[in-house]
Amino acid sequence: MARKRRARRMARVLTETHPDAHCELDHGNALQLAVATILSAQCTDKRVNEVTPKLFARYPTAADYAAADRAELEQLIKPTGFFRNKTTSLINLGQALVERYDGEVPGRLTDLVTLPGIGRKTANVILGNAFDVPGITVDTHFQRLVRRWEWTDETDPVKIEHAVGALIEKRDWTMLSHRVIFHGRRVCHARKPACGACTLASLCPAYGTGPTDPTAAKLLKGPRARDLAAAAGVDPDLVPAQAAAADVP
Ligand code: SF4
Repeated sequence: MARKRRARRMARVLTETHPDAHCELDHGNALQLAVATILSAQCTDKRVNEVTPKLFARYPTAADYAAADRAELEQLIKPTGFFRNKTTSLINLGQALVERYDGEVPGRLTDLVTLPGIGRKTANVILGNAFDVPGITVDTHFQRLVRRWEWTDETDPVKIEHAVGALIEKRDWTMLSHRVIFHGRRVCHARKPACGACTLASLCPAYGTGPTDPTAAKLLKGPRARDLAAAAGVDPDLVPAQAAAADVP
């Protein structure tokens, strides 16, 4: 019970801390989100978002990916890295969608995870953001943070998903995932978390993992870095201009 209460209090603080939290992969429909998520493996969302406008214009339907010219598709997605494997995934995804789902992305987890290139994490991203079905996205940030917060000791992503699902109300799962990931990218970094400029400091069992003095504000990242400092009661002027302009990882 204590864990659940603390988790929910932390979730409420995160709601206030990251009012701008959202899926950082630009997309207009479920297919675009599936494609963007495949491209995001080992790549920043920002880089993916630079590539996708041209890609989505060139390949608007699953059938277009199914029939894609491999060399052309490879060239378009090359900046996202691992482009040969990703090209294979996109073509196979297009073919599977055409063959089994009339070219539409299905809205059920059990169907989504049978598709090439779509694992459970991607399926939850698609469900939560394209179908409004609550889903918990256990990516590397989410994993690191919920373990630091002692919401769970599990290391397996599926077990983490279930453990966090038992603490937080289902209707909040999708937005919670965005907020946790936002916090991981902007505040609670893997190597040097900004504990001294973190709104969760008083509730966090890992407080002290990073520097605890107000100069931790210089570790904050992203366009709202100054707002994040202010929300944590730290002088926003301690955030250097380049931190506020920095890309989030
Ligand atoms: S207090 Fe430190 S470890 Fe805890 S959430 Fe904040 S930045 Fe992360």
